[in-house]
Amino acid sequence: MIRHDQVVHHPLGRGSYYFKTNLVGYLSDQCNKDKIAFHIGAQPNCSPHLGNICTFTTGFALARAMNEQFQRDVKVKFVYVDSAPAPNQSVSIDGVQYQKSLKHMGTEQTPFVHVLDRLSDLSGVLYNIETQKYWHLNPAFPGVVRSVVARRETLGPHISPETGKLGIRASCPHPGCGLTDKHGVKNQYHDDGRVTFFCPHHGEHHVNLASSQDLERLEFNTPLRNLIRILICSQDADTSWIMCTGSDYAGFYQEQLTWRILEHPENAPIIFYAPLVLDWSGAKLSKSMYVKEGAYKYLHDAGRKYMIDATTFLNAERGIEALYEEVKNWVKNPYMLFRNYSIEYLDMRLMARGMRLP
Ligand SMILES: [Zn+2]
Repeated sequence: MIRHDQVVHHPLGRGSYYFKTNLVGYLSDQCNKDKIAFHIGAQPNCSPHLGNICTFTTGFALARAMNEQFQRDVKVKFVYVDSAPAPNQSVSIDGVQYQKSLKHMGTEQTPFVHVLDRLSDLSGVLYNIETQKYWHLNPAFPGVVRSVVARRETLGPHISPETGKLGIRASCPHPGCGLTDKHGVKNQYHDDGRVTFFCPHHGEHHVNLASSQDLERLEFNTPLRNLIRILICSQDADTSWIMCTGSDYAGFYQEQLTWRILEHPENAPIIFYAPLVLDWSGAKLSKSMYVKEGAYKYLHDAGRKYMIDATTFLNAERGIEALYEEVKNWVKNPYMLFRNYSIEYLDMRLMARGMRLP
């Protein structure tokens, strides 16, 4: 191991060259609608941990600063990605990937609520929780979906490079089935506005893009969902949106799979990338299905279970308070906001701000 000197450098990078002191004012100027909504989200199969809690905290702290300094009408909107795939429900049949979505499995949402309640109390910013239904019920949704489907020949290869197809899916309506063609490779699009989906067990089923009831059945892969969400927010007449997400979504992903294909990027919401919390290898801390069972045992062993277990963190004396104060300081000094932080650094800062290990 390399011993270090505990000296923290903040070399300027990303947005910090240009927003050294005036980030909040700039963001406020960019939001020209009466209301401002900070969008944060998570997949229900990923439980809260220091990494995504840090992203949520950034959203609440920015919202609070815009309200405090510019009297803006702010709120936080937490939207579950309940169309995410359910673990251990994926199968490959004749070379096509099928899966079930969490919406189909039922989800346990409480740990996120506890985190959001505390952040709302600390910041004084109200929040509400939605599911993907929120976008589906938006009046702009049918038009946005039809426009995306109409552009499928160009959008498919652009945002789904491995299949070239739009990642649109609908669960098989057969009772107890719910399988979806993950990448939409067998979908057929008809001139009359219907889309035919295929279940390997029960055959074809259809969605009529002109029927709002039918449209509710649609699910999208991540880049397409992101694009549709951004197009819907672009059309919001009374709310300016700021999408607050982890900075792992910054860069090539967003440039190629979203911004290059927007017809009116000037109307699109701001995407604000929160600092990532990085493990010893520089990978983001994660508690999703992509992390092996028993991951981060060394954090348990080091008495740092709070980093990967939200309940432990919320029960730690001055735990989330210390994190909120730390993030508030990043917002006040934006050169600290456009970078990532290691678990060691964050642990040191939280202790310095009075956190007592549980
Ligand atoms: Zn089926």
